[in-house]
Amino acid sequence: MGSLKDQVQPSPAQAWKRLKDGNQRFVEGISEHPNQDSSRRTLLSGGQFPFACIFGCGDSRLAAEIIFDLGLGDAFVVRTAGQVIENGVLGSIEYAVEEFKTPIIMVLGHDSCGAVTAARNAAQTGDMPPGFIRNLVERILPSVIAPSLPPHAHVNDMVREHTRQTAMRITEQSHIVSDAVLSGEVAVIGVFYHLRDGKAELVFSSQDLTLPNTPTGEGQSPTTASLPVSVKQQPRIVFAETWGEASPWGL
Ligand SMILES: [Zn+2]
Repeated sequence: MGSLKDQVQPSPAQAWKRLKDGNQRFVEGISEHPNQDSSRRTLLSGGQFPFACIFGCGDSRLAAEIIFDLGLGDAFVVRTAGQVIENGVLGSIEYAVEEFKTPIIMVLGHDSCGAVTAARNAAQTGDMPPGFIRNLVERILPSVIAPSLPPHAHVNDMVREHTRQTAMRITEQSHIVSDAVLSGEVAVIGVFYHLRDGKAELVFSSQDLTLPNTPTGEGQSPTTASLPVSVKQQPRIVFAETWGEASPWGL
């Protein structure tokens, strides 16, 4: 690997493929553990150029570099319990976009999330948790009472909803992110992680992440380049098959 200055960021679709491929290796038990040796460490002592910004739940089972088979310098990682947004989170994500031009921002939720479960319990009982945990729960509540949820929704349905809403809120609240999404330079995606089998399931994307069938070399893929201008007002949504009926707009 050459100097960091020689590196060019991949397109959003290429970045997603790298994350998806790494997760597939992790699922199959054939992780390569890339970029974790002393030469990589030495190279990065002069700077960083992460290709992904991953904003996930702080759950100890959700270590981004492990579940996407990444190494040092690959991902700029931001975590809070229940992937709750606050100003420091938005600033951190904006920093990744401004400073490193990271082409993909992933919101990462997971099944059986304790923070989302606490928000569901608070919604059902009216009892709020103590201390600053209340602050977390309050910010998750809109996702657990969303009209788009099915009756008697499972907590995992709520996590999917919360992951989508969080991804949309980042784009809505940050001009830096929304401008980058509008230009096609950045995709904001939502991923639901399955704790038992390790699989990362795409539940939201601000744009089509399909790579073209024919190689196009460096730069943006045709799919990315042909994004509609209206993406800022109404991002294109990619659902998992089981979520094709759900409305992403219920708040
Ligand atoms: Zn969690």
